[in-house]
Amino acid sequence: MPSPHTARPSAVRADIDLDAAGKRFGHIRVPHSTHESAYGWIAIPIAVIRGGPGPDVLLTAGNHGDEYEGQITLLKLMRELEPPAVGGRVIIIPRLNLPAAAAGRRTSPIDGGNLNRMFPGAADGTVTEQIAYFIDTALLPITQISLDIHSGGSSLEYLPCAFARVPEDRDARARQRDALLAFGAPITMLVDQPQSNRTLSAAALAHGHLHFSTEIGGSGTTRPQTQAIADGCVRRLLAHVGVVAEALPTAGTTRMMRVTGPSHYVYTPVRGLFEPDFTLGDVVHSGQSAGRIHFPEEPERAPRALVFEDAGVVVCRRVPSLVAPGDCLAHLAVDIG
Ligand SMILES: [Zn+2]
Repeated sequence: MPSPHTARPSAVRADIDLDAAGKRFGHIRVPHSTHESAYGWIAIPIAVIRGGPGPDVLLTAGNHGDEYEGQITLLKLMRELEPPAVGGRVIIIPRLNLPAAAAGRRTSPIDGGNLNRMFPGAADGTVTEQIAYFIDTALLPITQISLDIHSGGSSLEYLPCAFARVPEDRDARARQRDALLAFGAPITMLVDQPQSNRTLSAAALAHGHLHFSTEIGGSGTTRPQTQAIADGCVRRLLAHVGVVAEALPTAGTTRMMRVTGPSHYVYTPVRGLFEPDFTLGDVVHSGQSAGRIHFPEEPERAPRALVFEDAGVVVCRRVPSLVAPGDCLAHLAVDIG
């Protein structure tokens, strides 16, 4: 697919050779001139492992800085993978939006940038836009397969799942489906109406990649269960595309689900304290109580009741009880088939 960019020079570059055989650790250097460091740059760790013939795979995490399973999975993988055991090339970036990850935040403290809402980026844009631009112009064109590992972050918790924006092309859809089955997350969520068209997933699919994302846990932490899912699923994907040959325990059946439109989401229209009537995994029906918002500054005021507009399974919930207008409190998905 043609790039949406004209050929403008980017000041961002990798300080290692991404093409040569072997294994290298290095950095993506994003120039960032500050009071403390006039000629400084932001150093985003990257590794490349190239063995024999095979596909080119890009593995990323830390696109949102407060999502940890993927960061830890990729830190392990970049140490463990060695060229003799690799068919093809694997490029690994565990903390894609490094300023956000270093601060433990979803967005960058430098420019407020939400990297996953900024693709395809800009060569002369903000720091976050420049990171997106580098991915879109330097890394997506030299790879054919990519996985962007997300979790719910500080404000959301998910039932661990693969999260797939569905490609329009029929063959691409079939390849993605095969890869999702091999990936073997407990749940596979197909997303009909994504939150944004400026995500890394949208960019990767525009480049013709075999690609999907994940939502593995959340709450701004990791757990043994969610970490094991992330570790195992990434290894199974690498085996599925022929990058590693090792025999892996087969995954159990993935539960195929679909996230549709706005009626699957519950938002609060008011500020206050949220008391939910549900937990993750609950099956709810249309009109069922989702809970209520209390008004701690007006104790005499009756709480505001909230209901689920549609039926489904609660696959995502808000973590903090403190809520403000526009906060997502939950969203549903429905089983396919
Ligand atoms: Zn995320």
